[in-house]
Amino acid sequence: MSAKLLEGKAVAENLKAKIKAEVEALKAKHGKTPKLLALQMCENASSAVYVKAQKKVAEALGIEYELRTVPDSIAQGEAEGLIKSLNNDANVTAVILQLPVPKAIDAKRLVNLIVPEKDAEGMHPQNLGKILLGQYRIGPCTAMAVMELLESTKVNLYGKEAVIVGHSEIVGKPLSLMLLNKFATTTVCHIATGERGILPEHVKQAEVLIVAVGKAGIVKGDWIKPGAIVVDVGINRVGDKIVGDVEFEGASQKASYITPVPGGVGPITTTILMRNTVELFKGQLK
Ligand code: NAD
Repeated sequence: MSAKLLEGKAVAENLKAKIKAEVEALKAKHGKTPKLLALQMCENASSAVYVKAQKKVAEALGIEYELRTVPDSIAQGEAEGLIKSLNNDANVTAVILQLPVPKAIDAKRLVNLIVPEKDAEGMHPQNLGKILLGQYRIGPCTAMAVMELLESTKVNLYGKEAVIVGHSEIVGKPLSLMLLNKFATTTVCHIATGERGILPEHVKQAEVLIVAVGKAGIVKGDWIKPGAIVVDVGINRVGDKIVGDVEFEGASQKASYITPVPGGVGPITTTILMRNTVELFKGQLK
């Protein structure tokens, strides 16, 4: 392997130190701390892991954290009423709706109901719109985590050929705007690119490659341009192993930097959630 490993843990630790210092300074100046409330409507193994991690990171940074669990029989109207009451609760400075939600619940409607000032995940249309305008301090956690990883390489993105594979609302779409804001020449590939059979052509051009599809090994090692930075967002279970969307063995022979899976993007996302929480709190203090 010739590529340097782009590990998320070091980036996350660095960010955490800055956030912790900022929370302490805000408390000293204003006598208040931010409070993140996580609303959970479905208990399952993966969301249990997330909320446990959120609580641990929040408390380590001096951010108050509350997990509010409601029965999964909750009706849409009742859930909407709950979000509205959190919007009006002065003690709660940020809200995250934990996914998944029960089948009868329209999650998008609920996310849009969280006021943008308390939108910890940066998924409210108003907050997403600010990314388009290049005027954002918060954003979708995974996309922001990818930007932190790229920044940690100190490689200037200006004029670079950036290719994103995957155009979801939480990763590919916001990331395309974030990279454009850095003046990268940005291409977004998606299912239709794959169906036309031209994914390799695009990937081979990438000096910066971000893959967020959810299909193990969809990007082959020999497609990687020599010296490319490769950020693999994908998480796939293959047998008893977790692997990414990029064939790691081959890709790491050609890339200059590559994320391991697991251990790349994942460890940073919860820290970004806390940074979003602190940024929202600062906005409320103004
Ligand atoms: P999604 O299912 O919402 O989107 C998948 C994207 O892949 C779509 O844009 C789709 O058009 C594209 N796609 C599907 N097949 C394709 C093909 N053959 N060729 C090209 N493009 C194709 O997924 P998502 O929520 O963005 O997640 C993507 C992956 O990232 C998943 O494995 C998910 O588990 C992982 N993920 C990881 C983190 C993390 O913290 N590390 C966070 C979020 C998502």
